[in-house]
Amino acid sequence: MRILIIGAGVSGLFIAYELLKRGLREIFVLDAKTPGYGASLRNIGCFRSSFTSREHVLLMKESIAKWLEIKRDWGVFIEQRGYLWIARREDTLDVFRELAKFHNSHGVPTRVIGVDELSSREPYINTSIVKGALFDPTAGKMSVIEVFTELYIRVKKMGGIIIPHTPVEKLVSSGGVVKSAITPRGEYTADVFVVAAAEGSRKILESIGVNVPIEPIPRHPLVTEPYAEVIKSGLVIDWDTPGSPHITQTQHGSIILARDIKDEPWTPLNSQRHDAFEKIIKPLSELYPFLRNVNVNRYWMGYYDMTPDHHPIYGLIKPFENLYIAAGFSGHGLMMAPVTGVLIADWILHGRPRISIAENLVLERFETDRLVKEIAVVG
Ligand SMILES: Cc1cc2nc3c(=O)[nH]c(=O)nc-3n(C[C@H](O)[C@H](O)[C@H](O)COP(=O)(O)OP(=O)(O)OC[C@H]3O[C@@H](n4cnc5c(N)ncnc54)[C@H](O)[C@@H]3O)c2cc1C
Repeated sequence: MRILIIGAGVSGLFIAYELLKRGLREIFVLDAKTPGYGASLRNIGCFRSSFTSREHVLLMKESIAKWLEIKRDWGVFIEQRGYLWIARREDTLDVFRELAKFHNSHGVPTRVIGVDELSSREPYINTSIVKGALFDPTAGKMSVIEVFTELYIRVKKMGGIIIPHTPVEKLVSSGGVVKSAITPRGEYTADVFVVAAAEGSRKILESIGVNVPIEPIPRHPLVTEPYAEVIKSGLVIDWDTPGSPHITQTQHGSIILARDIKDEPWTPLNSQRHDAFEKIIKPLSELYPFLRNVNVNRYWMGYYDMTPDHHPIYGLIKPFENLYIAAGFSGHGLMMAPVTGVLIADWILHGRPRISIAENLVLERFETDRLVKEIAVVG
């Protein structure tokens, strides 16, 4: 069976990896640019299972289990340091208590911690302005470059064929079957097609009359010079400030700071937002006063490929019998990528995913008004 995957980001490559692991051999991955050119090499490398939907919690739990196997088997930098969701207000702790109950009921051991434990976990935090935090011990951070490079090499070594600089302009179908993908470098035929092209999925699928509601929203993380370890957790998030400012530190010491600062969908990735610096640093330097003295080296842009309910779109695209999608990860596609590979491989080979809750995330949910709610949208 020849399978053509469109998009060589972390989703497309993990789908290829999983299919190759299961013994399939003719796996092609096309990319318009170069592998990882999309959000996969523009993200901040964090993972967690502390979400607010059952779908996210259960799928992330599985994905984190896979990440821990990957850490063991590939020897890449992945550390389960935990996330801290910071409450500046007393009533936020009530929201966190409810969230912890919800997480615990799904086997995720989050808990609310007081200021004393918070300051032992994050010694540089300004405890005079915080009331406590929600602690997610399942969460952590990874080296994005190490993980992506290792994935790419493994897919190649297992026989996957990755073809860069080959944008799919349209799909050709007949009688409910997709026959080929048209690119400026020729026509690619296959038995099965998987669209894993983030916001690019929209145009590809429009060519066969399928509407996919994905909008790319720019994000603008800042990165500093390297420093000794000052952020101990995988990620610290300021829940009570609009745009959820957040902060992490790479294994090489650079501090990454980010916040949702609202931008127009489709804003080009080479445009500049000078106001990003102040908007991101101000609230975070209230939490970590030493930030007033750090040197920011640069900032970069990348898209969150957002769906209306902030969950990915998975599975078979009806009425086609050989067309699948994995796109619209809304800021969480790196952490979901191992489980994405498993789910889509299951769908292709067995007709359904082994984790049945993933079936709630099919494209039809937007037509039948079965949206799934998630309010914690941040790395
Ligand atoms: C600033 C930032 C921080 C983030 N932080 C986190 C985080 O901490 N944790 C987390 O889990 N997620 C995070 N994310 C989100 C995560 O990076 C993405 O959800 C994930 O990378 C999506 O992977 P993907 O393979 O689906 O898409 P992409 O990596 O965007 O890959 C899609 C690929 O498709 C290709 N393509 C597009 N159109 C076509 C076409 N017509 N033909 C062929 N190829 C095409 C593109 O060139 C691209 O390479 C963050 C994102 C950003 C921008």
